[in-house]
Amino acid sequence: MSTGRFADQVIIVTGGGSGLGEDYCLAFAREGGHVICADIDRDAAIRVADSITAAGGIAMAVKCDVTKADEVDHMVQKTIRTYGRVDVLINNAGIIRRRSLVGTTEEDWDREIDTDLKGPFLCARAVAPSMMERRKGAIVNISSVAGIVGCISTAYAASKAGINGLTRQWALELAPHGIRVNSVAPGYTATPINEKLRQTPAATQIGESIPLGWGKPAHITAAVLFLAADEAAYITGQTLAVDGGLTTTVDLGPDYRTFDR
Ligand code: NDP
Repeated sequence: MSTGRFADQVIIVTGGGSGLGEDYCLAFAREGGHVICADIDRDAAIRVADSITAAGGIAMAVKCDVTKADEVDHMVQKTIRTYGRVDVLINNAGIIRRRSLVGTTEEDWDREIDTDLKGPFLCARAVAPSMMERRKGAIVNISSVAGIVGCISTAYAASKAGINGLTRQWALELAPHGIRVNSVAPGYTATPINEKLRQTPAATQIGESIPLGWGKPAHITAAVLFLAADEAAYITGQTLAVDGGLTTTVDLGPDYRTFDR
């Protein structure tokens, strides 16, 4: 019997093999959870699961492309066969293609929407029946500030705004079954997804325009674990921006930012 906020709970993290997903996997395991690290990259999922078990935690790696219903269903069935249930789903797997409206090809659109919007739908649909049966569960969708304000790309904005809508819809539908659904909308957080961007001068400008600067994975992880935990028992249908203040401000440049002149 493990101890901690998630003692013996079964937690699926999609895209758990890298970046934020990896940080969630490690944090849930530290808090006693049985973690299913599901990623399109089998080796990455195994690396994260192995690091958890090497530290004395409980984890299983499953290769899963969230855009494919058969792989999602297999991943959830394997989880239920192994651990008997799913307590928490973290819909985290995502990609970003930085494209303008006219620069977005049909293939860009389909790939982004399939991964960032259809993927979370397939995963939530696959876990919901087992949660409904037990009348208990929490789903945390990983959205983005790009679902709240314009900042990155056409298909990414559509998928993340869609996630916020799905969060409200599923919260309504699943509340009578004891299931809570919330989203976390991270701001700019240093992970492999923005590695190239962080090597450009734009990274400094971005940091300077966000009241609290660039985020760290631990900032996002704290919010995800809170919304997944029983502490958040009366919170559902919400999108929590964890963005260092990005979506609360308009930055009109360094001169404007010099107050009390
Ligand atoms: P990473 O690229 O570091 O991690 C994403 C992981 O998801 C990778 O392991 C990736 O595998 C995997 N993945 C990609 N496509 C699929 C798929 N079809 N099925 C399963 N797994 C897949 O990104 P982050 O950790 O930064 O991002 C995680 C989430 O956070 C995303 O939803 C992103 O939109 C969101 N987010 C991140 C922000 C940031 O600043 N970092 C800001 C706002 C939101 P592979 O590497 O092989 O592609």
